[in-house]
Amino acid sequence: MNLILLGPPGAGKGTQAKRLQDINGIAQISTGDMLRAEVAAGTPVGKEAKAVMEAGQLVSDDIIVRMLASRVSQPDCAKGFILDGFPRTVPQAQALDRMLWDKQLKLDAVIELKVDDSALVDRIAGRFTCAKCGEGYHDRFKPTGKIGVCDACGGTEFTRRADDNRETVAARLEAYHRQTAPILPHYAALGILRTVDGMADIDVVAQQIDAILAQAG
Ligand code: AMP
Repeated sequence: MNLILLGPPGAGKGTQAKRLQDINGIAQISTGDMLRAEVAAGTPVGKEAKAVMEAGQLVSDDIIVRMLASRVSQPDCAKGFILDGFPRTVPQAQALDRMLWDKQLKLDAVIELKVDDSALVDRIAGRFTCAKCGEGYHDRFKPTGKIGVCDACGGTEFTRRADDNRETVAARLEAYHRQTAPILPHYAALGILRTVDGMADIDVVAQQIDAILAQAG
């Protein structure tokens, strides 16, 4: 099964993609995570992407499409993949169409997580992650049970994304509305776009997604 999770930053794409990866054994492909790994490793791609990401803008289509093409060819994608944060522009969506056509693959569903802009700033600004196991938390909405200790692995080191601050979020939302939202009509025309209320609780969103996938599969 091949899926796209679409939605503004903070809509819950990563949370839902991880869950789907764990229960369905399909690979989560987060272009944001891939770029952050490049930045951390100091590769040429990472060096080019760092300032763009910190400004809340989009990395060039060329870099992203090349990165994605090599990622979908890896063995863990054989059962399918969930694209989380890609495509983000019309040229990326067109490149994906060509890539899928070449590989004789099809998209089963494009799921849009719809969330009010006003909720997103609060959601994003409080996010942090366990440095050891990657479990995600939030200062207000999902704090750790014991202050400073990861519920999942007991780790005591946490990280915050450089772009998860109020100023950068505004630029990221603007990029979403101006560059990413215009790809929605393409998938609507193909009849595979489904919209889920991303304002609901994580479990309710998960149920809605599972119901869509049961129909699509
Ligand atoms: P994310 O983790 O998906 O919120 O992505 C973090 C940042 O990485 C974005 O704000 C962009 O700067 C960059 N990025 C991630 N995916 C893409 C993409 N598909 N196209 C362009 N830039 C991207």
